[in-house]
Amino acid sequence: MAGMTRPLLNRRLAEFGTTIFAEMSALAARTGSINLGQGFPDTDGPEEIREAAVRALREGRGSQYPPGPGVPELRAAVAEHQQRRYGLAYDPDSEVLVTAGATEAIAAALLALVEPGDEVIALEPYYDSYAACIAMAGGTRVPVTLRPHEGAFVLDLDELRAAVTDRTRLILLNTPHNPTGTVLDRAELTAIAELARERDLLVVTDEVYEHLVFDGAEHVPIAGLPGMRERTVTIGSAGKTYSFTGWKVGWATGPRELVTAVRTAKQYLTYVSSGPFQYAIAEALRLPDTYYDGLRADLQRKRDLLGDGLRAAGFEVYRPQGTYFITTDITPFGEKDAYAFCRALPERCGVVAIPNSVFYDDPDAGRSQVRFAFCKRKELLDEAVARLKRLAP
Ligand SMILES: *Cc1c(COP(=O)(O)O)cnc(C)c1O
Repeated sequence: MAGMTRPLLNRRLAEFGTTIFAEMSALAARTGSINLGQGFPDTDGPEEIREAAVRALREGRGSQYPPGPGVPELRAAVAEHQQRRYGLAYDPDSEVLVTAGATEAIAAALLALVEPGDEVIALEPYYDSYAACIAMAGGTRVPVTLRPHEGAFVLDLDELRAAVTDRTRLILLNTPHNPTGTVLDRAELTAIAELARERDLLVVTDEVYEHLVFDGAEHVPIAGLPGMRERTVTIGSAGKTYSFTGWKVGWATGPRELVTAVRTAKQYLTYVSSGPFQYAIAEALRLPDTYYDGLRADLQRKRDLLGDGLRAAGFEVYRPQGTYFITTDITPFGEKDAYAFCRALPERCGVVAIPNSVFYDDPDAGRSQVRFAFCKRKELLDEAVARLKRLAP
């Protein structure tokens, strides 16, 4: 075949294979296992929002290319949401950009803001698209590892400070954090903000789980801290908040110059996407607080159900304060290799999970960690727990 004398996949992407989510979801389908791997809910979001999408489709709204930055209704609703919840003011015309999910916003932000050779700091274990997008942008990723401490994962601020060099361009934050469930608190974010200002760094912050915080924890957007609005791109998504992950509606907010830069990259990725769904999500963003309270309460119950079940089954369980994932450790089973454990799990008990080891640069750091998603129907979680108890160490 032509062109085979050198590897087909370019050097920037050489280290990346199929995402772990595709691999494990295929394994779940093949073995008929309960899929607690990939993080998507097994029920649809609010009926009235689905109806809003049907209405948009029927009325032909969004059937043709929507405006590049997103439909005005959605941009206005995003700006209103940021104002109402966090007191953050963004101009819907120049400071809000609608994207094909948070995934595209992350890609566009990194492609726009990172110069080859720039260092990008990301919290490890990291969401898998971060590493690939930093690589596609020609950047160098510099992981700062969240470490287990008293039953949860915490950020070591000294480690973060030590990771900044003269080549650091930006800090890629994720709070609430996937996969650990860590929610950075105001004091931690204040320290990160100070560091960003001191070293003149940009911040790109992935806040797709902003509404999924438990135990009364507060989600604090770093963009709202002193001096941070001007250097922060905040990324949100409808997928996790409204349980419509297939609609792929996300957004970026920030000062005009930053959003313009992100838009420049975004317009050559998808240009636009999700036309009719944009109108429906504009309505979703205006749902009353009771919707978010209900979502949170439901997920907190499911977290507790799965967490207790995993503990009873013999796992070491780290308590998540946010997201819909629980990270566990398999050391109590006398096992060390999460990848091998997850590959064998369908056979052993008919459940699929994700090895966190793939979210680390240092293969030893997360070697024995396994992630379970709890955004599933209660009956399914009950059944999964019953099956997992067969593992008894
Ligand atoms: C799910 C997820 C995304 C992707 O969001 P989409 O809107 O589906 O593209 C981004 N970041 C994190 C941390 C996620 O868990």
